Amino acid sequence: MAQALTWPDSLWAAATPEGPDLPALDGEARADVAVVGAGFTGLSTALHLRRQGLDVAVVEAMEPGWGASGRNNGQVIPTLTRPDPDQIVAQHGAAGERFTHLIRDSAAILFDLVREEGITAEAEQNGWVQPVHSPGRMKIAERRYRQWLALGAPVELLDADATRALLGSQAWHGAWLNRSGGHVNPLALARGMARAALGRGARIFARSPVARISREDGRWVVHTPRGRMVARALMMATNAYTQEFGRALMPDVARQVVPVLSFQMASEPVSENLRGVVMPTRPAMSDTHGDLWFARYDARHRIITGGALAIPFNREARLKPYLARRLARIWPMLGELRFSHVWSGKIGMTDDFMPRLHRIGPDAYAWAGCNGRAVALSVALGREFAAAIAGRDPATLGLPFTEPEPLALHALAPLAFPFMLNLYRWRDAREV
Ligand SMILES: Cc1cc2nc3c(=O)[nH]c(=O)nc-3n(C[C@H](O)[C@H](O)[C@H](O)COP(=O)(O)OP(=O)(O)OC[C@H]3O[C@@H](n4cnc5c(N)ncnc54)[C@H](O)[C@@H]3O)c2cc1C
Repeated sequence: MAQALTWPDSLWAAATPEGPDLPALDGEARADVAVVGAGFTGLSTALHLRRQGLDVAVVEAMEPGWGASGRNNGQVIPTLTRPDPDQIVAQHGAAGERFTHLIRDSAAILFDLVREEGITAEAEQNGWVQPVHSPGRMKIAERRYRQWLALGAPVELLDADATRALLGSQAWHGAWLNRSGGHVNPLALARGMARAALGRGARIFARSPVARISREDGRWVVHTPRGRMVARALMMATNAYTQEFGRALMPDVARQVVPVLSFQMASEPVSENLRGVVMPTRPAMSDTHGDLWFARYDARHRIITGGALAIPFNREARLKPYLARRLARIWPMLGELRFSHVWSGKIGMTDDFMPRLHRIGPDAYAWAGCNGRAVALSVALGREFAAAIAGRDPATLGLPFTEPEPLALHALAPLAFPFMLNLYRWRDAREV
């Protein structure tokens, strides 16, 4: 059953020009490659396939950017939350090493794509910074800085004074900075990528939820309420929203991740005077708290931030004063900010924060588990999956495949979220 098309009450939905007009999938269609899901992963896969001249059709349940890609904070971050590069290589060997290179280059891949395709996405490549909220966690910044520097990433380690100058706050004890990061309007990026893919000859079908996939006569078949798409190769790019439209789609892949609701909010515009002091160079910022503190400006000079509350009651109204107080603690000169928009989206969490990448059959791929850190990675992964589908040996790509391992008691996992959040807060206070 198709869901009514509604957009979250997000700043992005309010401020972004409409996306392209798209048909629903009606009857039988054929393509060399079928892509399911029109977020950054699916659209990047389609765009990169078209750049190589392959025939590709995207099938999306709602509209491009309707999932996590159109709802996120828009921070373009060329690193995972964890594991760090040496742990990725220890776990995945040569494929892990190539994956760390892909992560290192991921922000550059995104910003280059925006420039090359002429996408208007309010893109600002002003760096991404992770400030450190307690003296004990400085060693985390030092470790990450050292590892990424060894991999050739454009990183810097900042002491407390340099961090204060960069962010205009005394809240932190130091930081590490990656100059290739930055931020975008994520819904504008998704809609722009859709237009670019269409311009290069891709087909995109919207409002066409895929109920199931099957294999018939050596081909993949994607089934929607009114149609089917038959293809040689298949990219499943449904990520944390995989089970949103029915339980039959890739249950083993979906049950590896716990979809956690993350709230985002946009402040009223900040005055020019204050902007000269608060994050004057406009980087993207997410700090070392487990209960993450993060912020960036958008093109209209609003602060885009967010957070989580353990008790699922009246969260949107409670979050406004809670986060205004947090920002006032970081930047007292802001006073108590007012927020115009609050919205949420689902983040697919894995138990070890490592994304899960899979080959789910002949010429068929999927991934899940963004852990809230994959705006850049999903665009970069789209390029890698496109290369694999176009025939490049996956053993030369940054794709550390594993077999799907569904979580035991997956259905109960969301109940653990309030406890996990309180555990993170306890650890944050104790420097664990
Ligand atoms: C609130 C929030 C804040 C975040 N902030 C950041 C950030 O600042 N920086 C960062 O790096 N990462 C962030 N992330 C993570 C980032 O948004 C995701 O990693 C990224 O958008 C994943 O893109 P995707 O294309 O893989 O998935 P999605 O964008 O979720 O796309 C999946 C698509 O599949 C479609 N779909 C699902 N089921 C079906 C079906 N049955 N048939 C057809 N289509 C289907 C959905 O409608 C959706 O459009 C955040 C995530 C959230 C939710």
